[in-house]
Amino acid sequence: MTAPPETGGGLLALVGGHVATNDAGRSEHGPGHLVVEGQRIVAVGAGPLPAQYREASVVDASGCLITPGLVNTHHHLYQWITRGAAVDGTLFEWLQTLYPVWAGLDVGLTTTAATGALAWLARSGCTTTTDHHYVFPAQGGDLLGAEIAAARRVGLRFHPTRGSMDLGVSAGGLPPDDVVEDVDAILAASEAAILTHHDPSADSMLRIALAPCSPFSVTAGLLTASAELARRYGVRLHTHLAESTDEDDYCREHFGRTPVEHLDSLGWLGPDVWFAHAVHLDDASIARMAATGTSVAHCPSSNARLGAGIARARDLRAAGVAVGLGVDGAASNEASSLWEEMRHALLFARARGGPQALGVRDALDMATMGGARVLGRQDEIGSLEVGKLADVAVWRIDGLGHADVADPVAALVLGGPPPLELLLVNGRRVVESDAVLGVDADELAAEVAAASRELWARAGQAR
Ligand code: ZN
Repeated sequence: MTAPPETGGGLLALVGGHVATNDAGRSEHGPGHLVVEGQRIVAVGAGPLPAQYREASVVDASGCLITPGLVNTHHHLYQWITRGAAVDGTLFEWLQTLYPVWAGLDVGLTTTAATGALAWLARSGCTTTTDHHYVFPAQGGDLLGAEIAAARRVGLRFHPTRGSMDLGVSAGGLPPDDVVEDVDAILAASEAAILTHHDPSADSMLRIALAPCSPFSVTAGLLTASAELARRYGVRLHTHLAESTDEDDYCREHFGRTPVEHLDSLGWLGPDVWFAHAVHLDDASIARMAATGTSVAHCPSSNARLGAGIARARDLRAAGVAVGLGVDGAASNEASSLWEEMRHALLFARARGGPQALGVRDALDMATMGGARVLGRQDEIGSLEVGKLADVAVWRIDGLGHADVADPVAALVLGGPPPLELLLVNGRRVVESDAVLGVDADELAAEVAAASRELWARAGQAR
């Protein structure tokens, strides 16, 4: 294994690159400089490095675009070892193929899957990610703890959710009975997750949220109790919502309401709530989400991969809803590249709404500040400003793939995936020259392949 990322400390200066700050005025400095001290940004501006920082360790960022690190607002890390299944299925068909396989998860397999997924996210420019883990087999062990350890190893800022399912097929839900949990056990584990792991401090590297899975896999009782518990401790709430027309049909049939009306009736709209997907929304739902401050994790690639539809991202933003990006689980987005979500968000918005629907800087904003707002971290990350945490991506855009694109932000968003020259998280180097410093990529790939074979074998399916 290569050396782990060094701890932050001292002064680090990035000089010569085009700095796209994504601050409120969308200031850009080309060329400019950015100085980090410890875990925070202490200077950002145009031109060469100011004299008072001449003692800094200098990185020559000529030929590079410097942006805030990208923020991923929806993922299922454990799915990194079940990619490529039910590749032509609808959401419900895909889930019903995979639930029995996920029933074999344990700490070892989840650790390997999460490490692979997190390392790949880092390579795509992601500095902060959430995770939605909702499969907790009875004998599986501490799967939340396993993914938290993986995030520490890779070095990303982490917002894992304690997910849950309590509505098995025998009670009218979609998942098999052996992958759902008892409500009391869920609530006890959720409270323990908050008490053990949640760090509310401004420079937090780890915050917990609670995340019952979806309207077709959890009871109204679990949704209500989870919201009460989360609000007692001041942690956020997350769930899947309005992902597919099948879900819309399910909600109308079982509850006589749209998905948003169903969640609204349970006290599940508010500034502490974010929904993954939100594809199938009518105008009233968008207005209600805007009025309550409810936000969205937009997952364009996963929605396209499952043929679920295209979210109304432009309408949501226009209404004032905070919209971040998410790769969603690796099993419905085998690429799991957050950079790619930024590009797809722009392309899909334009496919739906014309060339003015989303600009390249809007896409960058969605991938950075949009995600920060969704996770309640807008005062700490999402832009490059003095005093903010040093979560920074440095993209090389002077190579063959991008060299002739005059606008650096257009090169990033519209061009192919650029090399990632450097990724800083909390001032620490996590990626250098496309290499994730905390892992050996070849060793990890072999471990991922072996873990995948083991999990499928446990489900009686050779791979
Ligand atoms: Zn999901």
